[in-house]
Amino acid sequence: MSFTIAIDGPAAAGKGTLAQALSAHFGFAYLDTGLLYRAVGAGVLAGGEPVAVAQALDPSDLNADTLRTQAVAEAASRVAVIPDVRAALIAFQRSFARRDGGAVLDGRDIGTVICPDANVKLFVTASAEIRADRRFAELTAKGVQADLAAILDEVRARDDRDQNRAEAPLIAAADATLIDTTSMTAAEALAQAITIVTAKRA
Ligand code: C5P
Repeated sequence: MSFTIAIDGPAAAGKGTLAQALSAHFGFAYLDTGLLYRAVGAGVLAGGEPVAVAQALDPSDLNADTLRTQAVAEAASRVAVIPDVRAALIAFQRSFARRDGGAVLDGRDIGTVICPDANVKLFVTASAEIRADRRFAELTAKGVQADLAAILDEVRARDDRDQNRAEAPLIAAADATLIDTTSMTAAEALAQAITIVTAKRA
């Protein structure tokens, strides 16, 4: 039987951490849909045409490590405004969501466009300053030199583009539960999400 958990929210709010922990807890499959847009962005940086790259994308080729750069994130949010790019990625996401055994998908439009009938919808957010602080700490811990002010600018620019695009803008579904992680640990956010999912499964 399928059971779909849709998690949306802005960049660096803790969606990925929460989605991965939830999928491990419930034994569900996990899809980071941002990787699809990042792969298209990377293809465009390499000289491809966005819609052609999206149509030729093979989701089994997604490599999280090479797609996690700031330049690719920026390119992803630029190609994500193109309706035909989004359309090319819908079928794969929907079939993933309906797979037997349960699925967790995180992104920007999962609860609103990809899986409007998801069993559980969470909207995970946090202040832009906290999200930039977390991204800065993550990079510094990896030994990458980072500039906090530049990261905050980048977070705000991506929020602005994601929230204000015409096609599938970043917005909480009317029936989503809001989890604001500004003053929460990852463990607290996970505990809250597990309570919500467990109640829906009962
Ligand atoms: O989640 P992540 O930061 O990897 O996503 C990169 C970009 O891809 C986002 O800023 C957004 O523009 C786009 N995206 C999207 N819809 C999704 C997932 C990601 O538009 N479902």
